[in-house]
Amino acid sequence: MTDKNVMPKNQTKDAAIKKVCVIGAGTMGAGIAAQVANAGIPVLLLDILPQSGEDRSAVARGAVARMLKTEPAPFMSAAAARLVEVGNIADDLARVGECDWVIEAIVERLDLKQALYARLEPLLKPGAAVSSNTSTIPLVHLVEGRSPGFRQAFLITHFFNPPRYMRLLEVVAGPESDAGLVARIADFADRQLGKSIVPAKDTPGFIANRIGTFWIQSGLNAAFDLGLTVEEADAIIGKPMGVPKTGIFGLVDLVGIDLMPHLKASLTGTLPPTDAYQAIAVDHPLVGKMIAEGYTGRKGKGGFYRLNREGGGKAKEAIDLDTGAYRPQAKPPKMPADLAGVLALPGKQGAYAWAVLGATLAYAASLAGEIADSVLAIDEAMKLGYNWKWGPFELIDRLGAQNFAAGLAAEGQPVPAIIAAAGAEGFYRVADGKRQYRGLNGAWHDVPRAEGVLLLADVRLAGKPLLKNGSAALWDVGDGVLCLEFTSKMNAFDAQIMALINQAIALVAERHKALVITNEGGNFSAGANLGLALFAVNIAAWGEIDKLVAGGQQTFKALKYAPFPVVAAPFGMALGGGCEVCLHADAIQAHAETYIGLVECGVGLIPGWGGCGEMLARWQANPMLPKGPMPATAKVFELVSTARVAKSAAEARELGFLRAHDGITMNRDRLLADAKTRALALVEGYQPPEPPTFRPAGAGGKAALALAVAGFAARGLATPYDTVVAEHLAEVLCGGPDTTGRDMTDTLSEDDMLALERQAFLSLTRDPRSIARIEHMLATGKPLRN
Ligand code: NAD
Repeated sequence: MTDKNVMPKNQTKDAAIKKVCVIGAGTMGAGIAAQVANAGIPVLLLDILPQSGEDRSAVARGAVARMLKTEPAPFMSAAAARLVEVGNIADDLARVGECDWVIEAIVERLDLKQALYARLEPLLKPGAAVSSNTSTIPLVHLVEGRSPGFRQAFLITHFFNPPRYMRLLEVVAGPESDAGLVARIADFADRQLGKSIVPAKDTPGFIANRIGTFWIQSGLNAAFDLGLTVEEADAIIGKPMGVPKTGIFGLVDLVGIDLMPHLKASLTGTLPPTDAYQAIAVDHPLVGKMIAEGYTGRKGKGGFYRLNREGGGKAKEAIDLDTGAYRPQAKPPKMPADLAGVLALPGKQGAYAWAVLGATLAYAASLAGEIADSVLAIDEAMKLGYNWKWGPFELIDRLGAQNFAAGLAAEGQPVPAIIAAAGAEGFYRVADGKRQYRGLNGAWHDVPRAEGVLLLADVRLAGKPLLKNGSAALWDVGDGVLCLEFTSKMNAFDAQIMALINQAIALVAERHKALVITNEGGNFSAGANLGLALFAVNIAAWGEIDKLVAGGQQTFKALKYAPFPVVAAPFGMALGGGCEVCLHADAIQAHAETYIGLVECGVGLIPGWGGCGEMLARWQANPMLPKGPMPATAKVFELVSTARVAKSAAEARELGFLRAHDGITMNRDRLLADAKTRALALVEGYQPPEPPTFRPAGAGGKAALALAVAGFAARGLATPYDTVVAEHLAEVLCGGPDTTGRDMTDTLSEDDMLALERQAFLSLTRDPRSIARIEHMLATGKPLRN
């Protein structure tokens, strides 16, 4: 093969990516293939031939089979799993010619990757992209010996594990990579795979792992040096620094302790001897011993922490860093909530906080221009790849760049030039209502937002809400669309949210076009505020409870029949009332990672804000179900009585929470803009929906459902009180307690349904067993199985 006859320069820049090939069906390759399939794109997943057996594609096939049993699930739906076709590189490699993007995710060995590329080169489709998922190998080495055409088509796309859930995608382009093709892959990964793209330079470990590995190593070193317990260390690094509560030791347990020596060897081998990492990359004998004995973390016999199941128990234990022996896990020490507070802690705890944070932030600052083009890219990478709440430069700003510089200087450590230059202003500021970051040359730049990205965080900086109370706010998001944001704890529903919804309805009706309901919290909404409900129950304020239920029903009805379009844009958990508010919208635009469900039965209640009727109407309208009232009733009964929560937006569609016309957005940052576009598309000629009518399944239906529940109870799957709650639910769904006089041609109105719902809800709140469930949920976060 000569250089000339391989792929023409990419001329089909706009060509959509219709098929993807992933080579290497290990942890990463399989997960990446699943995410491509989650986007609705067919994938060919190849691996090597198995060592034995007749099935030549057994390796890739086995990987898919394993993924179907993995939790959290790599696939968003069963339909997605069907989009993955398996094969092997001996028989099927030529089929890469069908694919627009070939992703290599084989073992981390340069020789094997190079050999594979040599085989791929003549087989690629013109205009196709090839990328490697390598964690550590520089791009320049990967493309050695390849043609200019191949080098133009080549880039690194570094996904994080697990690929479905980790949002970061580091993209590294080589000097010869075709910029248009790189942009096309980045755009696809952003919009369709839902990834946040961070451009990284071609340096070892790229951005996140370069800093992350340093951070982990400093955390281990300092804990051994200062004699901290793992619980202390993780409490210090965790919440106060905006790091997940796993801290450092918990994180290493999670990703696998055995991964550490590999990362270390690779980084020490490729970084220059002067790099600060070289000096700290020491081996700890205990860590080596743990790996050798199979204590590799959660996937192994245990790690720095373990659940000791000896003697049939479940004892939480932690390792003693001095002796290497397990001992009962201690309660994590209480920490100040803020960064300055932990740094000021007396003794070894404060010393630990500074040792880890000071070194890591200084290291990140010293690398800024080398690993990325901006501090913004570095902060994004750490936030998205390691789930830090703040990136290194945001952390420096929180400490004050000058304070931080003084701290380094006081220890005789060099102050990176970029920190000295940041001075009193720091790395971020808000100017003219826009968030800006300091460029490496000192100039200020607006934090850029891609076209189609709209964030409430930005809207908030630019102005004030139109309405606001203690639990919600209403924002103008432009073009006549308002956005209702929940701001209460866990975005739980209370009277204030209901009040703001009513005010918002009046305001939009008066002088705006449409309403979007979403927010940028951790979850869309955890449901009704159970604490408030419990309080009312405890003081026997039945009138209050009645008002809460009836008021909620009226509010959601007003939302449903408002004279303008309403679009709900859930993400994360949308439970109970959080689900019901979505069910009353004209359309749902859900983030792909939406976990929606009517979970009231778990706390001994039933949906009380119209959820029963809305779900019944959805299933009644489903053409796939057999005729008659019973099939839809049985479906809704099953979903609600088991408090079923969809594990993705795709599954929510299968379960009927989303209708055919509802949309799914893969990238979280695009959710609000997509919802707004959706709302605007509904404005012209908008008509509120027709109220549904229900055909209740009546006494026969109730008897059938009771029989089903009795079956579950007999098999130990339903508790005694589950049966009681289920009876109430069945009564609502089948047309009420007095169904004897009804026949199959009777219908119920929406208001009849709401009245039944209210009645059943109120009767359940008076039952002490429901109260016990609510109390237990509030105390433990888990359902009581009474
Ligand atoms: P893995 O060991 O789980 O899987 C590698 C797979 O590649 C195996 O199924 C193996 O059979 C297959 N394979 C080996 N040689 C092959 C060949 N010539 N052709 C086809 N298949 C071949 O490894 P992994 O953890 O999935 O890592 C894959 C790549 O992703 C590596 O480059 C790694 O550095 C990178 N990476 C890993 C992680 C992670 O957390 N594991 C994260 C980001 C990137």
